[in-house]
Amino acid sequence: MKGICILGATGSIGVSTLDVAARHAQLYKVVALTANNNIDLLYEQCLEHHPEYVVVVDENSAQLFKEKLESSSISDIEVLSGAKSLEYVATLDNVDSVMAAIVGAAGLLPSLAAAKAGKTVLLANKEALVMSGDIFMQAVAESGAQLLPIDSEHNAIFQCMPAGYKSGMQAKQARRILLTASGGPFRQMPLDQMPHVTPAQAVAHPNWDMGRKISVDSATMMNKGLEMIEACILFAMIPDQIQVVIHSQSVIHSMVDYVDGTVLAQMGNPDMRIPIAYSMAWPERFDSGVEPLNIFDVRRMDFEEPNLERFPCLRLAYEAINKGGIMPTVLNAANEIAVDSFLNEQIRFTDIPVIIERCMEKFEVKPANTLDIILEADQQARLVSKQIIAELNY
Ligand code: NAD
Ligand code: MG
Repeated sequence: MKGICILGATGSIGVSTLDVAARHAQLYKVVALTANNNIDLLYEQCLEHHPEYVVVVDENSAQLFKEKLESSSISDIEVLSGAKSLEYVATLDNVDSVMAAIVGAAGLLPSLAAAKAGKTVLLANKEALVMSGDIFMQAVAESGAQLLPIDSEHNAIFQCMPAGYKSGMQAKQARRILLTASGGPFRQMPLDQMPHVTPAQAVAHPNWDMGRKISVDSATMMNKGLEMIEACILFAMIPDQIQVVIHSQSVIHSMVDYVDGTVLAQMGNPDMRIPIAYSMAWPERFDSGVEPLNIFDVRRMDFEEPNLERFPCLRLAYEAINKGGIMPTVLNAANEIAVDSFLNEQIRFTDIPVIIERCMEKFEVKPANTLDIILEADQQARLVSKQIIAELNY
């Protein structure tokens, strides 16, 4: 029996993880669940999975949650609050696996704590890795943690790697990664309509059902930019070895091109329970609850090169990784602020890359070799981005 801690239990990945865990209750015990403030869903999850601990990061919501528990059948659950408590539950002795599914930079410290504690880290929180690549992989290597990617593309690549492959290793016979992308909802929209895109249109992804932030990232293709950086870190490759491929059907989840000309692809229905179940069962496999792929329904698969004029965020991500050091952190922080402002209807969809580019221009590259430097760059880039937004004139 393995103990699992789910960071970000109330999100899209968290909910899918609990769905898989419930199918394998004889193998997985839910030890801890965390949420930012969605206490209604968290309460339902506690009734079903009865964890030992919950963390509600927001103090006021935590207080309300405690009151809710007092008069219930699950009043023995320990309720903690504050960001530090995330690190506490991610490193508990009876936790073997940590699902790192908090969105954005807020997931960095608890995900890193799990890696340092030598846990099996199921990593969905790509922003954490983009920010802290070297430090994160060093923590994994030193502690002997097992790092299993949850992002569907990276999970696919991991599955296509040679037997015995471990995240961070260089697979010498793998010469290229073909990183697939759906292209999001605006792949074919006339360019002059892009400035008028609404938040509701941007979060309506054609193939995947995801949280709001990553859905906007998919629409700008910043998601693929972050994933390209994530792939460089996880698979020890350089940006030139990662080819982004638009594959609108989202049946192939990525491919590895080997020196002998073999290309291995992983396919399946677009449902995150597949990579989640793979990582929870690893190195075995078990049922994910996902319908088998009906290859006859797929009928055809299309592949095209991304258009960097339509998707400047992808170009900016290549620029950030090529500059290196703190630049991916700056890219990520500016993107988080810009996406948030777009969702709050303060800026236009097409302002997102403009803000990120202007923000990156304001920073000098320096090595990202300590956590303090990374966290400082993150904070500074957030302030600079807010300033740039305030100065936009309409
Ligand atoms: P989501 O918005 O649905 O859920 C986010 C979770 O993080 C929630 O549980 C929320 O309570 C928690 N959270 C938010 N802000 C927090 C904070 N400041 N402190 C602590 N907790 C906080 O997001 P999601 O779609 O589940 O994505 C989660 C992560 O997984 C992201 O990094 C995303 O890029 C990655 N990912 C998601 C998918 C997907 O299909 N949803 C696919 C690949 C990768
Ligand atoms: Mg992905």
